[in-house]
Amino acid sequence: MITATEPFHLLAKPTGAVCNLDCDYCFFLSKEMLYPDSDFRMSETVLGAYVTQLIEAHAGQPEVQIAWQGGEPTLMGLEFFEHAVALAERAAEPGQTLVHTIQTNGTKIDAAWAEFFKRKDFLVGVSIDGPQAIHDAYRVTKGGRGSFEQVMRGLDHLREHGAEWNALCTIHAKNADRGREVYAFLRDECGARFMQFIPIVERVAGADLDDDGGVPWSSWRDRPLYRQEGTAVTSRSVTGEQYGRFLIDVFEDWVRRDIGEVFVQMFDVALANWVGAPPSLCVHAETCGRALALEHTGDLYSCDHFVDPENRLGNILELPMAQLVETEQQKRFGAAKRDSLPVQCLECDVLFACHGGCPKDRFIETASGDPGLNYLCDGYLAFFRHIDHPMRRMKALLDAGRAPSELVADYAAADASRGRNDPCTCGSGNKWKRCHGRPAAAGPSSADTIETT
Ligand code: SF4
Ligand code: SF4
Repeated sequence: MITATEPFHLLAKPTGAVCNLDCDYCFFLSKEMLYPDSDFRMSETVLGAYVTQLIEAHAGQPEVQIAWQGGEPTLMGLEFFEHAVALAERAAEPGQTLVHTIQTNGTKIDAAWAEFFKRKDFLVGVSIDGPQAIHDAYRVTKGGRGSFEQVMRGLDHLREHGAEWNALCTIHAKNADRGREVYAFLRDECGARFMQFIPIVERVAGADLDDDGGVPWSSWRDRPLYRQEGTAVTSRSVTGEQYGRFLIDVFEDWVRRDIGEVFVQMFDVALANWVGAPPSLCVHAETCGRALALEHTGDLYSCDHFVDPENRLGNILELPMAQLVETEQQKRFGAAKRDSLPVQCLECDVLFACHGGCPKDRFIETASGDPGLNYLCDGYLAFFRHIDHPMRRMKALLDAGRAPSELVADYAAADASRGRNDPCTCGSGNKWKRCHGRPAAAGPSSADTIETT
């Protein structure tokens, strides 16, 4: 039995890149090209190797996370997952906790799926980008129709069965300027208590873009294999400034009423870095390399964002997973996150919180012309500086054995003496009464308020 030196996280893709949707910004759909002759279904042999090797690699650890993603993993059918869980339960050590997670577009979830997720304590990540008008802008079916109604039906089933779920919301050109509205929608209309906001940064070579920043292909089928290459981005991508503004807009609402009630991954990760604990997200950790991707064939890759021939570590049917995770190649991949930072990052006052962001987004130049600065730097800088004071306050509360949610009362007291025409605390330059001084609305749900391209 080969165990890993420390726990790692692995996203398994039982259908490879195959999905029932055709989201415009999805970088992963083109990965189908890596396996031209495949049926895109994880075999019994690979499934058995995945589950048993993962559990063996975590021998002695109190917990093992078994994570499924895609493509769309539910296309494998419920029986596949019933079987996978049974295999894992047989392989687990006595007393070891299995944490089952699945990331899905939510469209296939019916009562049977929801009952299964509840029965087996799955944490279900559902991709939803905001109210219908926003969600349907890019998250479309193979026929080009919006998927919002199908997703909401899936969510209904999860809620009815009491299954644990979180919202994975991507931030892009159509919702980047609507942070408050998106947050209010996820919290109030969907009832989300856990949220992740993922920036869409869709890299291309400048020569591939048309005059409007669009791409010449209408589907992944006529585009080249997506790689982390190119210094331009598509018009669907969020800018650094927009991403920072989005996070600040959400933070300013969250900090006034939702601390301890709603969990926003980015805020938890920031607090971890402020208190000096390891963050739960590789993007803002010093090094990475412990979050890998497993294709349906058993091929193991360094990271979900680097599923390409150069970053293939090997196949788990040929070499044990724990051995592949500990290769020099993977160690170099993880250490490069820290070792390749430009001087501007090394001298940055929020490096301890940012850690330069994900290497996949480091393709712009610093002020002095060095390569390797994160495309989202403007946003990271603005956001991390903006939250410095409340984060220090939450750390002080935690150090004193008190709840960070006490901060809500501090904000309420300060807001009570704020003038209606004072500048808003979010830094937008707008008056308080026209900005965070008035409640956020969940926003329109009809598709006619967003221009779709
Ligand atoms: S490359 Fe980015 S997404 Fe992948 S493990 Fe590193 S920080 Fe995480
Ligand atoms: S905010 Fe910008 S300069 Fe500072 S560490 Fe992050 S990417 Fe580097």
